[in-house]
Amino acid sequence: MDSLPPEQMPDPETICAHWGEDRTKYMGAVIPPIFQNSLFTNPTVEDRYEHRDPGFHDYTRVENPTTEITEAKIAALERGERARCFGSGMGAISCTILSAVKAGDHVVAVDTCYGPTRQFLKSYLARFGVTVTMINGSDVQEWEDARLPNTTLFYLESPSTFVFRQQDLSAVAGIAKEHGITTICDNSWASPIFQNPLEFGIDFVVHSATKYLGGHSDIVAGVAVGSKEKMTTMLQNEGQLIGAILDPFASWLLMRGLRTLPIRMEHHQQTTLELAKRLLSHPKVETIYYPGLAHDPQPELTARQLRGTSGLMTVRLKNQTKEASYRFVNSLKYFGIGCSWGGFESLALPISLPGKWVGEPQTNPIWTVRMHIGLEGVNDLWNDIEHALCTV
Ligand SMILES: *Cc1c(COP(=O)(O)O)cnc(C)c1O
Repeated sequence: MDSLPPEQMPDPETICAHWGEDRTKYMGAVIPPIFQNSLFTNPTVEDRYEHRDPGFHDYTRVENPTTEITEAKIAALERGERARCFGSGMGAISCTILSAVKAGDHVVAVDTCYGPTRQFLKSYLARFGVTVTMINGSDVQEWEDARLPNTTLFYLESPSTFVFRQQDLSAVAGIAKEHGITTICDNSWASPIFQNPLEFGIDFVVHSATKYLGGHSDIVAGVAVGSKEKMTTMLQNEGQLIGAILDPFASWLLMRGLRTLPIRMEHHQQTTLELAKRLLSHPKVETIYYPGLAHDPQPELTARQLRGTSGLMTVRLKNQTKEASYRFVNSLKYFGIGCSWGGFESLALPISLPGKWVGEPQTNPIWTVRMHIGLEGVNDLWNDIEHALCTV
């Protein structure tokens, strides 16, 4: 389904409920069916080779009607023209990065981006002669300074992993456009409900749809969004050749997750803001890494780029030892101890951060606790946290 001019696009809630769907095609079914098939056949050879119907489908590695509905919704939510689902966030990220580099090229990337993305950029791409410069990324001048004559990609993640650092999306996209550099931004933290990097001039948005887009901790999925032109080139190459597609059943579950995305994000935001405020005024807590609070180090970017804030934050206790972070997390009752986030359930995990990520000169790691605030009741979560804080 083609997008409309921005002023004619429905609200996100309506996109999640209706966009990309046509019940007359599916016998009036309220829920689109799962096209769980690898191929599509033709009545005659002529139908396949000579007068192909534009609505015709061929093979699920390339296109699938269930997946297409999910993709149409995500493209519309991100204000892009075309989206493509992948078998994981890393599938979307690695294919999109590969579409922007060749042997001998150079990449500038945010140093606090998602760990496996960092590893893909720094270690894996080195095999193919691609070099990478990692920067903090908060200061626009750093992008200009790190740029080389052979730079073809700026990789952003805003807010970034663990410390939620932001980049000035329009300024970085502006530098990139001036020099013919592609820009990719990981938007998993904010989700399309709270931020749309394409509107600031970014070329590709990527998501781990395992997180908020899916929202129920029952699928691993990814998505890339961009203009029709840029996406078509990427899909003809990395999309088809690497083949990291999302299977139709997972696409269908992702579509079901999207139905409630806007109301889930609103609830994650409200509960997290309330807990963050209570945590900040607690004597056992040093600080919290989370945009939008009174001590936000980047208030101007928060105001300009984010329409809201999600449910993932990092808590730095006064006691920054490994033992204290372990005790705190082990004492929580409602928080699962696990690595992912973005689902209905609260999670917590001790994380040791390099001092320089949190503005400390020391080389010793600093133990923090990353918390994902799920959809449980705020008072239950606070009672749980307050009790666990007694142990540190
Ligand atoms: C989880 C995550 C990814 C990777 O997504 P998968 O679906 O696990 O492959 C990418 N970026 C961010 C910011 C993430 O948190």
